Amino acid sequence: MKQCLAGLTRAELREWAAANGEAAFRGSQIADWMYRRFQPDPDEMNNLPAGTRRKLTEAFHAPCVQMLQSDCAADGTEKLLVELTDGEAVEMVLIPGGDDEEKQRLTFCLSTQVGCPVGCLFCASGRNGLIRNLKAGEMVGQFLLGCRRAGRRPDNLVFMGIGEGLFNFEELSKALQILSGQEEFAMSPRRITVSTSGFVPGMQKFAALEKEFTLAISLHAADDETRSKIIPDKLRYPIAEIMDAADLYLEKAGRMVTFEYTLLEGINDRQEDAAKLAKLAIAHHAKVNLIPYNSTGGEFRRPAKEVIRHFRDILHNAGAHVTIRQERGAKSSAACGQLRLRSKAMPALTGKG
Ligand code: SAH
Ligand code: SF4
Repeated sequence: MKQCLAGLTRAELREWAAANGEAAFRGSQIADWMYRRFQPDPDEMNNLPAGTRRKLTEAFHAPCVQMLQSDCAADGTEKLLVELTDGEAVEMVLIPGGDDEEKQRLTFCLSTQVGCPVGCLFCASGRNGLIRNLKAGEMVGQFLLGCRRAGRRPDNLVFMGIGEGLFNFEELSKALQILSGQEEFAMSPRRITVSTSGFVPGMQKFAALEKEFTLAISLHAADDETRSKIIPDKLRYPIAEIMDAADLYLEKAGRMVTFEYTLLEGINDRQEDAAKLAKLAIAHHAKVNLIPYNSTGGEFRRPAKEVIRHFRDILHNAGAHVTIRQERGAKSSAACGQLRLRSKAMPALTGKG
């Protein structure tokens, strides 16, 4: 199977050039097109001889992703439907503003899989299970597409689109290597967040990288019984094991984790849930990010504003560091968890967002 050009490191590009009868500097030229000018299409690399461009096109999928559709919300959030070479599609989101509007921050939210094997009941991404893992080059390809679209690099990168990235660890870690590598995109690892549903074997490998990538854990419940109402058994790990893996990450990466907590009315929004969550957060040096549920057409409801505020206050008063996620892009259906609803892969739902 053809590889994606965007999945290669600078050293691998040089090796490819050498192995294919090209001068070593050709590898560096190709690398500069990708890492500096965000251009993965050999036809556009106009300082390469036609023969080199042809060899690249024959050897690689380049580019390996392309934009099918874009959908912009009033707040500037833009969702892109991204087509892969086999006709599957994922989504990515370009989010302006971030945590400080003044600084014009830009965040990209990227996908790691087509579908998701976890299947959380409130999330649209896993409704049809896992279709396939993305290749590293398809993740880097989304990054390149975003950079070209925005005309610049993002300040932050979050792997919070479709899929459970830590279930696709090898390809995700290769993408992380390219995105943060000094010879490649050189993004600060602290500005790259991987979000996981608490997939413990992946968390352990992530901790073992001993890099300062940021880790977010989608906890959604402070006890296993409540959690079992939201996340199917198949890939759900006991909270105690998730906490052990979070502690390991803190030790190896030296970074605090964030607990993401999607608030669902009548399921996990009780005062006692907030109190238990505060205890866990404090014991494991975690920040808490409350995410008001975005409707995906199921039976779940978002709690009332006062309930959300009260939930936050309980955590805050207990001494936990807590924020409420600002809603972005709801009008374009780009908000979390709605990402697959309108994709071509789910035609039955098209237009419902
Ligand atoms: N699979 C990973 C990353 C992708 S999901 C994970 O679960 O962490 C990214 C975030 O979106 C998760 O915290 C998830 O709980 C949240 N999310 C999914 N569907 C949502 C919805 N309908 N409303 C609000 N948040 C949602
Ligand atoms: Fe998968 Fe994350 Fe959605 Fe759960 S919330 S189904 S883990 S993408």
